[in-house]
Amino acid sequence: MKQVIFLIGVILISMENQAQEKDPKATEAYEPVPSVVEPGNAQTPPSDAVILFDGSNFDQFEKTDGGQVEWEIKDNFMTVVPKTGSIRTKKGFGDCQLHIEWRSPEVVDGNGQGRGNSGVFLMGKYELQILDSYDNDTYTNGQAASIYKQYAPLVNACRKPGEWQTYDIIFTAPRFGEDGRMVTPARFTVLHNGVLVQNNIALLGPTEYIGIPVYQPHEDKLPIILQDHGDLVSFRNIWLREL
Ligand code: MG
Repeated sequence: MKQVIFLIGVILISMENQAQEKDPKATEAYEPVPSVVEPGNAQTPPSDAVILFDGSNFDQFEKTDGGQVEWEIKDNFMTVVPKTGSIRTKKGFGDCQLHIEWRSPEVVDGNGQGRGNSGVFLMGKYELQILDSYDNDTYTNGQAASIYKQYAPLVNACRKPGEWQTYDIIFTAPRFGEDGRMVTPARFTVLHNGVLVQNNIALLGPTEYIGIPVYQPHEDKLPIILQDHGDLVSFRNIWLREL
């Protein structure tokens, strides 16, 4: 008797499973509902973005030593004033989607790493290189859209010097265990002028000028740095969505 009941149970469950397999609703999810966001366009950010720079002021930035930014704002964009120092966001950020537009000088001066060099450092440690890489040879893991000295871009999507360019960055912060060891690495996906150049790559550690990168534990959120590398690189329309 027990065996018969067990058998009927098995049959009912398998019938239920079969019914589910044929029911399209079985695989439909209704919760949680994604929040509504007004998408932006080339000129405007999406409605849930944190505006870091709209062309009018440096309210969201300070020098990396905490002092007032000495870069120049003109015609809705900012330009590095060489030797005044790199700047950082006053707020810290971890996982995020970051949009930034940049331009290297129209008048080409220098070559290799000395031509339109700057950089976007997520968490102040992980650099997406900015460089005028239009017909300008240098080491490939140091050209525009490289993750500095770790990953060359998949392609060179650089526009001509003097033209505005976009980076759309999806960044995942590294995670550290209680013992301070890296559990999951930092990751970047990057579109350069709408072209995929970094595809969910895992960083080896902070981007170092010299030597092998090694992860050191750090906070969940840290400021984003824009680099003063001595070149007249300009920026505009910087916004971010925290993830
Ligand atoms: Mg740089």
